Amino acid sequence: MAQQTILQKLKLLADAAKYDASCSSSGTSKRNSLASGGIGSTEGMGICHSYTPDGRCVSLLKILLTNFCIYDCRFCINRASSNVERARFSPAEVVQITLDFYKRNYIEGLFLSSGIIRSEDYTMEQMIAVARSLREDHGFRGYIHLKTIAGADPQLLALAGLYADRLSTNVELPTERGLQNFAPEKRPEVIRKTMAEVRLRQEDAKEARKGRLLTKAKPPRFAPAGQSTQMIVGADDARDGDILKTSSHLYSGYRLKRVYYSAFSPIADSSQDLPLVRPPLMREHRLYQADWLMRFYGFDQTEIMEGASDEMLDLAIDPKLAWALQRRDLFPVDVNRAPKELLLRVPGLGTRAVERILAARRGTRLRLADLARVTTSVKKLLPFIVAGDWRPGGLTDSEHLRARFAPPPEQLSLAL
Ligand code: SF4
Repeated sequence: MAQQTILQKLKLLADAAKYDASCSSSGTSKRNSLASGGIGSTEGMGICHSYTPDGRCVSLLKILLTNFCIYDCRFCINRASSNVERARFSPAEVVQITLDFYKRNYIEGLFLSSGIIRSEDYTMEQMIAVARSLREDHGFRGYIHLKTIAGADPQLLALAGLYADRLSTNVELPTERGLQNFAPEKRPEVIRKTMAEVRLRQEDAKEARKGRLLTKAKPPRFAPAGQSTQMIVGADDARDGDILKTSSHLYSGYRLKRVYYSAFSPIADSSQDLPLVRPPLMREHRLYQADWLMRFYGFDQTEIMEGASDEMLDLAIDPKLAWALQRRDLFPVDVNRAPKELLLRVPGLGTRAVERILAARRGTRLRLADLARVTTSVKKLLPFIVAGDWRPGGLTDSEHLRARFAPPPEQLSLAL
């Protein structure tokens, strides 16, 4: 086989990485080479963004170390039995590309994942070699997100957390049943153990930092931007209710920063029991909205599913509105008196709008015009609130309320 150039490898391994949805660099500690020497920064502007074909924003150099893999997960284009063209970077090549891209201001950091080569430990060592070299040999201060290889030695995870801002271990599919069916080599208990190990090390680092507050000693470092995971949506028969239940367990059990939902992309030569078309992107969007409700709005998974039918979120309206339509007994809510927890449940009110309402109502009785200054969705609020100059009357219980917000049904054209 002719030797591949760096550019050819980059094309293959950046394309292969597009199935990973985790591209957020939020939440890490602030570092800037202007102040500390070295190069790079986790903040700052001027970063070029690129977009995957389905519109996701990618501001990190997101690549695989290799798309060779000894595993054969059936939903994955890089599985051992797939006949895709393969490529492999050396750690030194990834370091060089990252530095080149960073200096040209193309990226704000590196997201590195990999197929599994030889063994979990060997693969993890290769990825750590990239992060170590960037940090120690080149003083790289930019963001690094490393995908951990489930089952890698805990000492390797400790090293990964020393150099990376964020670690993530993919749970891959929402249910154990799905994993057993589509990725029998991946063991749920091994994935969970890896996540638990990361969580423990994060907590240890936090405790140790607290203990050193009074001393000048350098605080220990372990993945300051936390850990995340990704689930593929629509490859198996898991319902949205299953997906949110798994997310809820992951957030509470492993203190995850984020769960990413990635709509399944059909692949060539795949198993017959995988879908031939990708699920609607709106499904992924609704799951993110529901996830947001769990993390920032005080909803639990079972409440969100009250607005669903057959355990699937409504694609036509957002999950908070769908829930409110089912729980009209709780509305209308008086914006001048209701507690914060209840205001957060009003469709059309986001967390910032609620904060502004709470602040504004200390000095005045809020009317619709005041609400129009804190939200762009006054029309959405009307059936669910009471304000100084507004009462919804029968609107709250109107049987046409859903139709008021759902997009009109599309007229299908007849093929002639
Ligand atoms: S281990 Fe990862 S890269 Fe390998 S086949 Fe499974 S999902 Fe794909």
